[in-house]
Amino acid sequence: MNARTHLLIAMFFGFMYFRFFPDMAIVEKFIFSAFLITTSLLPDIDSPTSTLGRKHRVIANLSTHRGMFHSIWIPLIAFFFSMVYPLLKGPLMGITIGYSAHLIADAMTVEGIKPFAPFSKETIKGPLRTGSIFETAIAAAVVMFFLVQPF
Ligand SMILES: [Zn+2]
Repeated sequence: MNARTHLLIAMFFGFMYFRFFPDMAIVEKFIFSAFLITTSLLPDIDSPTSTLGRKHRVIANLSTHRGMFHSIWIPLIAFFFSMVYPLLKGPLMGITIGYSAHLIADAMTVEGIKPFAPFSKETIKGPLRTGSIFETAIAAAVVMFFLVQPF
C-alpha cells in the first residue's frame, strides 16, 4: 500500500477511536493524532522505495522489507504500556492504532505481512496489489466515509 492509503486508513481508525472515547481532551487528541500519523507510515522505513525509506536508506537497506518492522510487536508493546501508564495513554494508543492500521492494510495485499517475525515466517496476505485500482477504491471509500459525516 502506498503512503496516501496508509494515512487515510489510519485516519479512519483514529476517527473510530475518538468515537469510542469521546471524552478525550483536545490536547490529548492532537498528541494521539501526531503519533497515529507518524506510526501509520513508520513500518515502511524498511523499504528503500517508500516515502520514509528513501530518507532513511541505512535502516531500509539493513532490514528486510515487511520483516520485523511489519510485525505486531511494536503495537503490542505500546498497547501494554498504555495499560500500565494511563498518563501516556494518548501517545501510546496513537502508536498502537496507527501501527496496527498499517499492518491491517498491508495484510490485505498479495505481499502480506509476517506478524510474528522474526520468530515465525507465518504470513497473512490478501488479494490486493499496491498501486492497483482496488487500492484507490479503498482510499476513495474512506474519503467518501468522511464526506458523508454529519459534522
Ligand atoms: Zn508497509
